[in-house]
Amino acid sequence: MLASKLYCPTLREIPAEAEVISHKYMLKAGMIRKNAGGIYTFLPLGRRVVRKIENIVRQEMDASGAQEIMMPIVQPADIWHESGRWNAYGPEMFKLKDRHNNNYCLGPTHEELITTLVRNELRSYKQMPLTLYQMQNKYRDEIRPRFGLMRSREFVMKDAYSFDVDEEGLHANYENMYNAYTRIFTRCGLNFKPVQADSGQIGGNRTHEFMALAAAGEADVVSCTVCNYAANIEKAIPKTLELAHDTEKEAELIATPNCATIEELVNLLHISIEKTIKAVAFTIDGKKTVLCMVRGDHEVNDVAVQRIVGGNDIQPATEEELKVHGLQPGYMSPINADIPENETFFILVDPTAMNISNGVTGANKHGYHYINVNPKRDFKNMTVATIRLITEADVCPACGAPIEIVHGIEVGQVFELGTKYSEALHATFLDQNGKAKPYVMGCYGVGVTRTMAAVIEQFNDDNGIIWPVSIAPYEAAIIPVSTKDASMVEIAATLYHTLCQHHVDVILDDRNERAGVKFNDADLIGYPVRITIGKKSIAEHTVEIKTRRTGAEEVIRIENAAARIQ
Ligand code: ATP
Ligand code: MG
Ligand code: MG
Ligand code: MG
Repeated sequence: MLASKLYCPTLREIPAEAEVISHKYMLKAGMIRKNAGGIYTFLPLGRRVVRKIENIVRQEMDASGAQEIMMPIVQPADIWHESGRWNAYGPEMFKLKDRHNNNYCLGPTHEELITTLVRNELRSYKQMPLTLYQMQNKYRDEIRPRFGLMRSREFVMKDAYSFDVDEEGLHANYENMYNAYTRIFTRCGLNFKPVQADSGQIGGNRTHEFMALAAAGEADVVSCTVCNYAANIEKAIPKTLELAHDTEKEAELIATPNCATIEELVNLLHISIEKTIKAVAFTIDGKKTVLCMVRGDHEVNDVAVQRIVGGNDIQPATEEELKVHGLQPGYMSPINADIPENETFFILVDPTAMNISNGVTGANKHGYHYINVNPKRDFKNMTVATIRLITEADVCPACGAPIEIVHGIEVGQVFELGTKYSEALHATFLDQNGKAKPYVMGCYGVGVTRTMAAVIEQFNDDNGIIWPVSIAPYEAAIIPVSTKDASMVEIAATLYHTLCQHHVDVILDDRNERAGVKFNDADLIGYPVRITIGKKSIAEHTVEIKTRRTGAEEVIRIENAAARIQ
């Protein structure tokens, strides 16, 4: 590639909205441009990085025995109704209608689609195990799209789904994918940690998240300083549960939400609140859950609540009243996503109002919201438990050693789903005895575009990005210090062609710019290796090779350059 031909509009000023380094540098280096909140175009350099990550993911998926397919982005609503997730998925789902008024969504994930895809054709135990995957844009209307590619509304995900005849097969597949993920993120050059995770919205059993450790990470990881225990704080929290009315069942219920940190809960509820607030959980009539928050040292009754209870005779709130509380009719957070629609009720109370008698309750259904709720009066047999937030003062639940809490970017996740979707969608196969059984499934996601951002978060300096060779847009840049000098231009061009012949991904900076400008751009864009052609190249037949990561410079003979770079 010739730099003079490259479409790479670099910026002098970084837009103020870019808060994290990956977002700043991707804009500045002309790799991405924003089209709408959380929606981006990938310009040539950015696209090249994404493709390199995709290639690594594809190679490792193929090597692990998974087969690539491509499913539609637009998914019909009926399969989501069948699984019970059309409403349960909540406002994160982009929904649309066709001209005949049929409902569709833009796929946030593909469990429904793939399960209904194979259910009539993957009929026999002889056809399993089977793992299918795709690499594609996903759509999630995130509450707060931010940090550029880290939390966008359109992003590239690799999603894989495994089908097994039994749990044993699933475990083997899970290991297989876990190992493939380890290879993928290692090859991408990331410093990462697989951590135990909460199965949350998607349901299921065993799950790990692959966390790229970085200050900008939105997830908190509890990590032991001695043993290899590492868990998402969402998963780690229930271990420090203090139950006011202690029952095993409550502990289980409280372990289910996938937003156990207050901050996350607050984000989900669209409310602002100080950090001093505690989370509280209730069970009602022994079977339903409530999550609520208590301000500071106030009594448990002073609550902001996320609640699931049975029917009651309180008056529904109007849309206007809900708006006052920042709520949407039919609002539902993923916390309660697995509760069937007709059984699910929430109470949401604006914590700043601090008056429980002004509570707003709501269901995940239009017209099922109430105001002036008083939980004690209106919902009987309530018991209370307190979740204490985990801090660095806690110890490792595995070995008792001190823990640390570090930030992580979730770049991938592997799940053992079990039969959750196959049962809901009546997707069965015939076992050896001719008996119909639901597939035992797993699902496995890699955030391809998020991985690009995570790598930059980990590898950068004041001058720009420092790409690992494996995913750099170009592996090396050749810079003739003057394009007015015909010999330099010729040496540069010859070396460029030699490197191309050796399959080095190389760019020749043939622009008529000052050397300083070219050096700065090379540092900003982050080419792993810079090859400078200067006066000595003519006089002594040498070039200067500079490694971006270490800053180390070496002078070598031109004819050795290709071998050195490869
Ligand atoms: P998060 O906890 O950050 O919201 P998630 O758990 O909802 O992510 P998954 O459903 O596990 O995401 O999707 C698989 C992968 O897709 C994630 O591990 C992540 O790398 C990526 N991903 C998810 N949401 C986004 C997003 N909004 N922008 C970019 N990548 C995303
Ligand atoms: Mg999410
Ligand atoms: Mg997550
Ligand atoms: Mg996840």
